[in-house]
Amino acid sequence: MKLYNTLTRKVEDFVPIEDGKVKMYTCGPTVYHYAHIGNMRNYVGHDILVRTFKYLGFEVTRAMNITDVGHLTSDSDSGEDKMMKAARREGKTAMEIAKYYSEAFFNDYDKLNLLRPDILKPATGEIDMYIKMITKLLDDGYAYISGGNVYFDVSKLKDYYVLTNHVADEMVVGAREGVEEDSAKKSQADFALWFTSSKFEHHELQWDSPWGKGYPGWHIECSGISIKYLGDKIDIHGGGVDNIFPHHTNEIAQSESYLGHKWVNYWFHNEHLLDETGKMSKSNGAILTVSLLEEQGYDPLAFRFMVINSHYRKQLLFTYDALEQSQSTYKKLRNRVLNITDEGEFNEELFKKYDQRFVIEISNDLNTANALSVLYEVLKDSELSGHTKLELIRKFDTVFALDLTKPFDVKNVDNEYIEEMIEKRNEAKRNKDFALADSIREELFSKGIVIKDTREGTIYEVVN
Ligand code: AMP
Ligand code: ZN
Repeated sequence: MKLYNTLTRKVEDFVPIEDGKVKMYTCGPTVYHYAHIGNMRNYVGHDILVRTFKYLGFEVTRAMNITDVGHLTSDSDSGEDKMMKAARREGKTAMEIAKYYSEAFFNDYDKLNLLRPDILKPATGEIDMYIKMITKLLDDGYAYISGGNVYFDVSKLKDYYVLTNHVADEMVVGAREGVEEDSAKKSQADFALWFTSSKFEHHELQWDSPWGKGYPGWHIECSGISIKYLGDKIDIHGGGVDNIFPHHTNEIAQSESYLGHKWVNYWFHNEHLLDETGKMSKSNGAILTVSLLEEQGYDPLAFRFMVINSHYRKQLLFTYDALEQSQSTYKKLRNRVLNITDEGEFNEELFKKYDQRFVIEISNDLNTANALSVLYEVLKDSELSGHTKLELIRKFDTVFALDLTKPFDVKNVDNEYIEEMIEKRNEAKRNKDFALADSIREELFSKGIVIKDTREGTIYEVVN
């Protein structure tokens, strides 16, 4: 398996810590609002990674957090807690907000056939772990208390910017527009581990700590949850590219200072989904979600198909035209697969050949587009029996997760509609309009309804 590693800025051979096993961590959503399709692109990337490892025979253990406290409106310790802001916006408690948007997140998540992480932890449930880590960081001189808060002192590290390869000055908070200076920090590059002095009264998310009642900084959550549940060393940690700085940079700083050794071997980052205005974001007003796309008549898996047609390290521009195109190609693909009859001998040699070709593409830093080309070649190959084709497609689809061999949903189709379509088709046949007759048959087929002409007349079968 070859994987691009943000830490080394190279595509590397993946060498697991423990043979045949992968331990990985995915940064979870901040549940103060709906997750947009840009967030979901990131989780599709992680899903393909997990599924590829499984395809290659690895045993994967993945942990993810749900950020329900500590993520401020600016990633750099200024602004308000996003959860508190949402609670005020909607007249609810922060916990009600977290519950509502976590459910909405997983509702959309499941629609995209994303595998659930093995370990899933809300940040508010692990306060003891953060306190344990921050206490040690203070004892070891990596952190200091100032203005009531606890900060990580980045000057204590030789290479704080190891992940970004950026000149330190450019990354310093305060050098960027719209970021408030925090006068309690020794250096503006330092970051908060624990807040006790909230600028906002009635902050309901507060816990007792050795430094006073308060709440954790955002970055400590992922470090704490990862170390507690996956151990002191993991293979992969990932998120979107915007997580590289400051989030992952700070995670490395605090985790490695706490542990006293290297923590993560491979850093995995997904490029952004853009819209016409730039990076899609939750704070940009209207939020385009997977559920909304579905309401507009798009199959969520057509969105997944669109995402995996491009490489996870390339920016992807979302337009309705592109989605329309993806949906049409996706439906055609599914129709083609559904038209294959499961018959003939199993061609073992050809099966192995195509399986190996698929492995070469997908394990080359997740080249999903080329892996899809292998699928199209399988469809075209007249030497392959229908049975072999279906076996290959079923196997490839454990990575694509596009429901390729599943008949289309027929939930909303009533018998009257089917009878009507059959009558229209019979009429078309009587008029010798075979093109129309075929298109009606295909339309029904795409909805999972197979029609058969028998001596007794046309009958139909709902196949799922
Ligand atoms: P958040 O819920 O804001 O914490 O974001 C959840 C994940 O989505 C993070 O890992 C982000 O890096 C990622 N993300 C945010 N915006 C986008 C985008 N437009 N495209 C792809 N990933 C994104
Ligand atoms: Zn994180």
